Amino acid sequence: MAYLEPAPIKDKENPLDSMMSRFDEAARKLGISEEMYYILKVPYRQVVVGLPITMDDGRIKVFEGYRVLHSNILGPSKGGIRFDPHVNIDEVKALAAWMTWKCAVVDIPYGGAKGGITCNPREMSAGELERLMRAYTIAMLDVFGPDKDIPAPDMGTGPREMAWLMDEYSKAKGMTVQAVVTGKPLVLGGSLGRTEATGRGVMVCALAGMEKLRLNPFKTTCAVQGFGNVGSHAANLLHERGVKVLAISDMTGGYYNSNGIDIQEAMRYVEKNNKSLEGYAGAEKITNEELLTLNVELLVPAAKEDVITEENASKIQAKLIVEGANGPTSANADPIINSKGILAVPDILANAGGVTVSYFEWVQNRLGYKWTQERVERRSDRIMKDAFDKVYQASVQYQVPMRIAAYIVAIDKVSQTYKFRGGY
Ligand code: NAD
Repeated sequence: MAYLEPAPIKDKENPLDSMMSRFDEAARKLGISEEMYYILKVPYRQVVVGLPITMDDGRIKVFEGYRVLHSNILGPSKGGIRFDPHVNIDEVKALAAWMTWKCAVVDIPYGGAKGGITCNPREMSAGELERLMRAYTIAMLDVFGPDKDIPAPDMGTGPREMAWLMDEYSKAKGMTVQAVVTGKPLVLGGSLGRTEATGRGVMVCALAGMEKLRLNPFKTTCAVQGFGNVGSHAANLLHERGVKVLAISDMTGGYYNSNGIDIQEAMRYVEKNNKSLEGYAGAEKITNEELLTLNVELLVPAAKEDVITEENASKIQAKLIVEGANGPTSANADPIINSKGILAVPDILANAGGVTVSYFEWVQNRLGYKWTQERVERRSDRIMKDAFDKVYQASVQYQVPMRIAAYIVAIDKVSQTYKFRGGY
């Protein structure tokens, strides 16, 4: 069978190829049939649209938009919309599959999808972006729907774009349909707790990992790469639970303090300093590369893909890695991390707190009710802890690292469901 051959990694620096190679390895371990392998691999619907938009100078420019629905076996598909000059259908296809496995790992009743428009949002006015988002929504009117496909923000989009999408969809349907999209502003039916959700899930996974390694949080040191939404909240919540965060970083470099960084103070600094740590005085300056190899117990890469590579993996001193970012470890670094006995909690599990609270947003919209932050946090903590335990158990049962175990849990869930539902 073709897929039983070791999966070639086409491009070791490409996180999407890395993801596919891990999917293949998990499929082999699980021993699924070749038929099932292709059912799981091929997206069930791909839509490409041309979007003519009147620009501010009066010219008409045509943008290409995509939506790939990878799977709807577990429920309506879920996934973000990316505005980026380099986005293309292949990237969107791979990211849609990634969403299927992420939702399945945390056991929420969603399939995976992803959308994108090839555009440069930094060079466009708010008016141009609004017309583009509204045109895309109309073009996808028969794709989106609270029971069919539920978009969310991704690179280059945020609550503002989701509000436009909800408004345009609602106008077309003749009624307000909040549940068609998540990541909305709070007043439009967004959920409390969504902002911190991904960082919070990282914290839950880190504490669960520490328990497995018998590390006392009060005696554990940590380095966090990236101080944006995921990294800053993860650092703050870990700090609140006793972990000493020795280093943080952003695009401007790393910041190290052997006595521990005051995370609240750093967050206030970034808020005032145009979202940047540049000039932060509470620490000495190091590089992002140095941060990864510091002498700490816990490492949280929460900035970008492919930062842990076969070049630096052997120098990592942490005992536990919790992946806040998507794809921070290249597939070629995996064997090195594993041979060093490092427990690596993979992205599809560790950063799934965000999609979990997006699911809660959809649930609240459908209930016509608002949960307190406390309820959102309690329920998402439970989902994240249960998912961690399930993946850990699978890693013991199949004798594989947690990364492959996470794909095993996800593939098993989707393929079992498919078998019960049946096909043609
Ligand atoms: P963000 O834009 O809020 O923050 C990114 C941070 O990383 C910033 O501090 C930025 O300065 C820093 N950074 C960027 N490039 C860097 C580099 N080369 N070296 C060091 N630092 C760098 O983004 P975010 O929402 O926190 O997302 C971070 C990662 O987490 C991404 O991989 C994203 O896909 C993933 N993720 C985010 C969410 C979410 O809910 N926000 C959910 C799942 C996964």
